[in-house]
Amino acid sequence: MDSNFAFLLPVMMLIFGCTFLIVARFGSREAKLWGPGYLFSAAAFSVPLFDSLLEERTASAIADALFLLGFLFYSGAVLARFKRPSYFRLRLAFAGVMYAGMLYAALVAVSIPAEFLLNDLACAALLGFAVAISLRHMRHAADKLLLAVSGLVIADIIIRNVIFVFIVPSYGGHEDFISSEYAFTMQAAASILALMFALAALAATTLDTIAAHRDAAERDPMTGMLNRRGFDRMVEERKGAQGTVIICDIDNFKWVNDTFGHGPGDEVIRAFAQMLQARLPEGAFAARFGGEEFVIFLPATPLAAGGDFANKVRLAFAAVDRKASGFDGRPIGFDGRITASFGVAGANPADHSLYEQIARADKALYAAKEAGRNKVMVEGEPPRDMSSPRVVAVNRGC
Ligand code: GH3
Ligand code: MG
Ligand code: MG
Repeated sequence: MDSNFAFLLPVMMLIFGCTFLIVARFGSREAKLWGPGYLFSAAAFSVPLFDSLLEERTASAIADALFLLGFLFYSGAVLARFKRPSYFRLRLAFAGVMYAGMLYAALVAVSIPAEFLLNDLACAALLGFAVAISLRHMRHAADKLLLAVSGLVIADIIIRNVIFVFIVPSYGGHEDFISSEYAFTMQAAASILALMFALAALAATTLDTIAAHRDAAERDPMTGMLNRRGFDRMVEERKGAQGTVIICDIDNFKWVNDTFGHGPGDEVIRAFAQMLQARLPEGAFAARFGGEEFVIFLPATPLAAGGDFANKVRLAFAAVDRKASGFDGRPIGFDGRITASFGVAGANPADHSLYEQIARADKALYAAKEAGRNKVMVEGEPPRDMSSPRVVAVNRGC
């Protein structure tokens, strides 16, 4: 190997190995596999640097094992990325058998070409297996890029071996071939592909890690719903989209907490969130804005339809029999159950932001509370009119 490449590759692999291990600290499971993969590759590419210390056959047996381990981890990382089973035993057994073959070729048959061929094909097969299993599970562009570059790495290995088997002999042997233009081009291509492969893997892993952290920062850990930050981003992404906003707040919740304790109180919040999420129409989103207060955005939904939706949620929530879920039979709220109130507001052309609409929905919610709770109040009612027909009756059916 050309001395420039001899130093470049192990250093490059070492840097990637360490980078992946750093990314792994942020919770990426696949980075935990890419990291050792690159460290094994770095070690494998370093073996020729110690040729004065190691006997040739020993060095070659060590390098073979390290390359195989590297690809065993790469294939594991690809499978982990696409959430496929690890097939660990199968891959390990395959690598073991191929390594036995390499040792046989090196030590018994004394055939360096056969040993190289077995090593390369074993590595390509390990990666190819993971790529084939993962192909139908690509989610975004980074996945496609990673699998495309993996395909190129596999193709490069195969082409390199075809050249090795069919062209090298015409050069009069391995030593002459090493100093040829062909060999230089092959090594350059392999190095560039190794760099591309590492960068594609790093980009895919880092993007996922960032997305996972962003998602965590935008969700309420107790209910899994969006929090205010997540809601704001959804609004930002749908800039200009109009629809109906609903604010809901569980009734007499302080009383629930005081009577049953904070734990059951949390359970009620979670149950409300779950029920709400399950009923959200396509394209709608909801967030927990704090405590027992939730905001829903129904895009392209007229005010009346928004009121109907809120009423369905209200009835479904109030219908839950708390006795069955461990609330020792004590009556809660106005009809002996836990209830919630809802304020509904439509878009106004004069609004500067969705928050003006949310403020109107909040006013309507306040009116629903004033009107006796367990009600849906659609905006537009003056306070004096709180008992008007626009307050949905407590027992109105779905
Ligand atoms: P209203 O019908 O007017 O809404 O009465 P309320 O008792 O529900 O009044 P309010 O909204 O002011 O009370 C909310 C209570 O919710 C106060 C707070 O202790 C409690 N709370 C806020 N966050 C949580 C939480 O995460 N878990 C539990 N268990 N309680 C919470
Ligand atoms: Mg409340
Ligand atoms: Mg509240």
